[in-house]
Amino acid sequence: MKILVINCGSSSLKYQAIDMNTKNPIAKGLVERIGLQGSVLTHTTASGKKEVMKTSIPNHSVAIELVLKALVSPEYGALKDLGEIAAVGHRVVHGGEKFANSVVINDDVMKALDECIELAPLHNPPNIAGIKACQAIMPNVPQVAVFDTAFHQSMKPDSYIYGLPYEFYQKYGIRKYGFHGTSHKYVSQRASVLLQKPLKDLKLISCHLGNGASISAIKGGKSMETSMGFTPLDGLLMGTRSGALDPAIVTYIMNKEKFNVDQMNDFLNTKCGALGVSGVSSDFRDIEVAASHGNFRAQLALDIFAHDVREYIGAYVAELGGVDAIIFTAGVGENSASTRASICANMEFFGIELDLEKNKVRGEEVDVSKANARCRVLVIPTNEELMIALDAQELTAK
Ligand code: AMP
Repeated sequence: MKILVINCGSSSLKYQAIDMNTKNPIAKGLVERIGLQGSVLTHTTASGKKEVMKTSIPNHSVAIELVLKALVSPEYGALKDLGEIAAVGHRVVHGGEKFANSVVINDDVMKALDECIELAPLHNPPNIAGIKACQAIMPNVPQVAVFDTAFHQSMKPDSYIYGLPYEFYQKYGIRKYGFHGTSHKYVSQRASVLLQKPLKDLKLISCHLGNGASISAIKGGKSMETSMGFTPLDGLLMGTRSGALDPAIVTYIMNKEKFNVDQMNDFLNTKCGALGVSGVSSDFRDIEVAASHGNFRAQLALDIFAHDVREYIGAYVAELGGVDAIIFTAGVGENSASTRASICANMEFFGIELDLEKNKVRGEEVDVSKANARCRVLVIPTNEELMIALDAQELTAK
């Protein structure tokens, strides 16, 4: 069985065709600059060979057509014909309160997705455009929506309601939704396999530390708490996002800098976080290099990041009533041994003890804690595409 996974951004589209027997991608690629000058599709075969196609790609529909053509190309394609695609799994950023699980897409789902646009005006419209394009070209292939927010719908009201008048939750849907759910769900399932313990018996803290970063407290396979909130701006200091702030700072800066709402939004999302503190880069590799050369602000950005993660781990150990394993995933979590080491320093109280030799690992599934530590520390590369494909496989098999 082959499943196509589609992740549409406003001007980009990532795809993977996955063979569900081996769970490996048989082709993947990226379409960039959709609707802009210089659009390009980069298709990568299972052996890693890249084909670059520069052509006009005015919208998502044309992008999908090109992707499908690439997938069945006699030269570098991975499929004999499109009939081999059993289902398409779409990443959808926001499912609001309507979707606590992935769903097979029908007219009612499309209507509900439209209603969620207000909550994710930048992300959901391209996701919907990708679904419509696939429906038009492959009308008989089941389409499945997999939501970033769905995994966190198990949170209780005392976790997700903010200290605002309750009517604002009812009128505007203002509450904590949480994001990166597909990643947190995937790594928690892998942790259960690595630890050889059923998920229902595990208390896990999953740290998705990438350019965007969030932490989730997971009990019995369900998300109990997470650090992102109404939007993906909340929680940890990130590459370019501020993370949690005293809310009064927002109006204070707007007043001082004469920012309007859009300018303030852009500022908090693109000029803050590790970039704003370090003044060097939003990329943790660059910041680590600058810090190693004695750049004070770069070191400060790294220290704040590790401090923020530790703070959430402490809070979530309390929330879960203990912890069996801490999981590190995504770009920084999977690759940066020094970030993992600074996060886990002085955490023996919680049973967290890193083996510094084992920790010298990058992008592999490994237990990096000391043999006799009470809490396991796991590095687990995330695989959101596979999680989406697994959900699509399960739902369409029904
Ligand atoms: P992601 O959003 O998951 O793709 O993660 C991107 C982030 O991971 C960027 O800030 C990268 O600098 C960071 N990253 C990737 N590799 C490394 C590495 N070897 N050491 C430190 N950070 C890394």
